Amino acid sequence: MNLTSDQIRSKFLQFFENKGHKVIPSASLVPENDPSVLFNTAGMQPLVPYLLGQKHPMGTRLADAQKCVRTGDIDEVGDNRHLTFFEMLGNWSLGDYFKPEAISWSFEFLTSKETGLGLDANRIYVTVFEGDLNAPRDNEARDVWKKYLPEGRIYFLPAKNNWWSAGENGPCGPDTEIFYDTNEIALGDMTHDEFVKADDEGRVIEIWNNVFMEYEKKDGKVVGKLAQHNVDTGMGLERITMVCQGVKTVFDTDLFNNPKTREERIIADHVKASLFMISDGVTPGNTGRGYVLRRLIRRASRFSKEPLFELVEKIQNIYKGVYDLNDNGIIKEEEEKFRLTLEKGLKEFEKGEDPFILFTTYGFPIELTLELAKEKGREIDLEDFNKKLKEHQELSRTSSAGMFKGGLANHSEKTIRLHTAHHLLLAGLQEIVSKDIKQKGSNITEERLRIDFICDHKLTDEEKKKVEDWVNDKIQKGLKVIRKEMPLVEAEKIGAQMEFGAKYPEVVSIYFVEDEDGNAISKEFCGGPHAENTKELGRFKIQKEEASSAGVRRIKAVLE
Ligand code: ATP
Ligand code: MG
Repeated sequence: MNLTSDQIRSKFLQFFENKGHKVIPSASLVPENDPSVLFNTAGMQPLVPYLLGQKHPMGTRLADAQKCVRTGDIDEVGDNRHLTFFEMLGNWSLGDYFKPEAISWSFEFLTSKETGLGLDANRIYVTVFEGDLNAPRDNEARDVWKKYLPEGRIYFLPAKNNWWSAGENGPCGPDTEIFYDTNEIALGDMTHDEFVKADDEGRVIEIWNNVFMEYEKKDGKVVGKLAQHNVDTGMGLERITMVCQGVKTVFDTDLFNNPKTREERIIADHVKASLFMISDGVTPGNTGRGYVLRRLIRRASRFSKEPLFELVEKIQNIYKGVYDLNDNGIIKEEEEKFRLTLEKGLKEFEKGEDPFILFTTYGFPIELTLELAKEKGREIDLEDFNKKLKEHQELSRTSSAGMFKGGLANHSEKTIRLHTAHHLLLAGLQEIVSKDIKQKGSNITEERLRIDFICDHKLTDEEKKKVEDWVNDKIQKGLKVIRKEMPLVEAEKIGAQMEFGAKYPEVVSIYFVEDEDGNAISKEFCGGPHAENTKELGRFKIQKEEASSAGVRRIKAVLE
């Protein structure tokens, strides 16, 4: 009888409870005190203060199952082992036990028939840190592993694979990763290179990572050992369930409803991630977390023939008794909104619009365009579409990289509002001062925006005042800010503002601010994100106008 995912989760927590750990609940997906990340991406994240030395109220040995979202893995979703939402099982030592206990317990939990999962030790492979100028080879970890595994299944890998650090400063250290061979016929002994290849190809699955925080970094260099040695481990529940249930992908476990095709897997993953996000208080929007949520729902909706919200109840059932999930009808609402744009797209199709514009502006799947074209006896240039799509994907990867990789891109609400004010200011300068004004550079911080622009004179006080009033008038009118993606030539044709001297890819994203009659008062090449409506901006004020270089003026402005 295979273990269920619920049993595996409970067994893990029980196992570490028996080893003196206190079980703590999962933190919300939304980090509480960390504005630098959109979502918790590992069990480690909510525990950072304690890993840095703050005393945890529950003691020095903890265990948990932490909800995680990794939007950085979105392109991999649909393979056998990557998801955007997953649970990470973890055990923690805050200055308590270290390598010998951590590794022995990992091995015991995986292989013991009595206390653990009873997996086959002959299918386990591990990697340890090979050493570099910063720190020596981790012979300590290797020596512990040697008690359990033949040396030929312990591989030394460089820092890229087996070194953990949170940044240039603070705790860091080597880790050891545990892999399992899920093939029907065991792969058996492998050389170093064969193992690395098997990992790349997903023929051995990384299931568990043990991180040993023992060093301290300053300015990117290890400067010594830490006073407090920590252990931080993470095991993906979906992956270990896949291993225990003897199935080929995480989607074939009892944590999913058997999605088969790549599209069905993406839908299943995205709807689940959306439901968990909404349950933790995220709502769809055009910035930050809301933007990630919206993209997930729309992407899933695009792939789906059935309404997504029908999956909600099924997902609730999977997690019954573990997580309280509720979407308050948000998925249905967001889906319906999106279906309306789809309808608009349909009208555009009737008019003969380019399939690629249908795809980018109206979210129109090419499969649908092809089906429709067939019915109407129309030809579609699929090669042209695929070429444009490829360019488009490269663009979205760069323009949304900051957002999807989670992490350190600055997308606070304040900078987002200033960004939108920046667009209005450029439009205002052109309207009030001169049509010939061109943007030369820009910079936005939490506090202010700065624009450099080509202009042949110092602005008069009257001009400054008029520009300020113009911008504030647009803010008060509560105008919509809309993003569209289009080929560069198209964007140039409609006269979208580009930064003077900048290079753009062949497909670009343009932000429009539209007045009450739907006329664009601002259209700019921009990756975003932006406010959804100008009324979110508050009061706009020019602080300073000065020369930047010959023929270039600089304005600093704020929102109050
Ligand atoms: P991989 O190289 O396979 O993407 P990783 O090195 O990014 O994994 P870690 O950051 O070490 O993984 O995370 C710890 C554990 O969390 C992994 O061993 C794995 O079991 C699980 N995990 C990581 N990313 C995902 C994901 N996208 N979907 C499901 N489980 C994941
Ligand atoms: Mg990864």
